Amino acid sequence: MTSFTPNFIREDLLNLSAYVPTPIGNNPTELTRLDGNESPYNLPTQLREKLGLFYQNNLETNRYPDGSHWKLKTLIAEYINDSQNQDHLININNISVGNGSDELIRSILLATCLNQKGSILVANPTFSMYNILAQSLGIKVISLKRNEDNFSINLDLANQAIIKESNPPVKVIFVVHPNSPTANSLTADEIQWLKEIPSNVLVVIDEAYAEFSQKTLVKDLPNHPNWLILRTFSKAFRLAAHRVGYAIAHEKIIEILEKIRLPYNLPSFSQLAAQFALENRSLILATVEETIGEKERVYHQLKSWYNLRVWPSDSNFIYLRLVDSFDDSMYQTIIRKLKDKKIMIRHTGGGLRISIGTERENDYLLSELGKLIREI
Ligand SMILES: *Cc1c(COP(=O)(O)O)cnc(C)c1O
Repeated sequence: MTSFTPNFIREDLLNLSAYVPTPIGNNPTELTRLDGNESPYNLPTQLREKLGLFYQNNLETNRYPDGSHWKLKTLIAEYINDSQNQDHLININNISVGNGSDELIRSILLATCLNQKGSILVANPTFSMYNILAQSLGIKVISLKRNEDNFSINLDLANQAIIKESNPPVKVIFVVHPNSPTANSLTADEIQWLKEIPSNVLVVIDEAYAEFSQKTLVKDLPNHPNWLILRTFSKAFRLAAHRVGYAIAHEKIIEILEKIRLPYNLPSFSQLAAQFALENRSLILATVEETIGEKERVYHQLKSWYNLRVWPSDSNFIYLRLVDSFDDSMYQTIIRKLKDKKIMIRHTGGGLRISIGTERENDYLLSELGKLIREI
């Protein structure tokens, strides 16, 4: 094509670094994929057959999807209420469903900060999509550094940032419980801090890994109408292929999120898969225990290597750094050499994040990473 400068594009987008998903090539099943924090287990054959039949019986390919997500929301409410042993903690008016929680993060930003109406506050290292999506919308991001010993948030600095920032003021705080990539849950102090955030600031608590950590703040939601909890089907529910996430919040917030989303944001295939997963959740979530067991095993093994610093994990992934403060190039070498062995992990936040795979995948990772670490 002829050379062309699209000078109608916003200038601030020219330097935006996007989220780059790892390329998986022609033969993804040959790879040991420990970079995405997904479940390593596809649904069992029997369930996949049942899902196929479920599609056959319920899918009208000529029709638009259910734009109200009514059935899916009903099942999500039941799942959340069941998990808290309460009948009426939340109902369908407290739920909005997105094309992955990524879509909900963007909707939250649209609803709160667009047009220089607000900034967001994050504590790094954390999930990169808050920053990327905010930047794509021209929204200012206030970034704090976490304490290096346990990756907790320096609450004095956070409070100062909230008080000081007026151009535009902080409208949303994003926290992850447990955090990615560092795998630590919110501390009691942090939770108390979130409870005291003034009600003109939205607190987003991303609980993408709640089924692994067995920790959730959903019970506290009714007392904090400025809180929003994000969940996803991409991790413990083993449905990353289907892109389904949901927000739980006060109905006034949900009403707005529903207003600004695309009318048919979630394909019928995805809605049915998520419904199916909820109806079969005891079978699907059964692998959580296996993953937690493997996590403990991998953690203790990595910890026993003298030149690694490994942090405890409340989730299905482990964060580590090299003890001696090497520059980025050492990490890049590790990533490249593992890639030669068809192993993928993530280099992020100045360290390495390793998702827990199957027992065989973990053994392979430990053996290959072990060789590299001994060479350093
Ligand atoms: C994986 C992950 C999500 C899930 O995103 P989806 O778009 O639902 O797949 C959300 N938040 C965090 C922190 C995650 O790690």
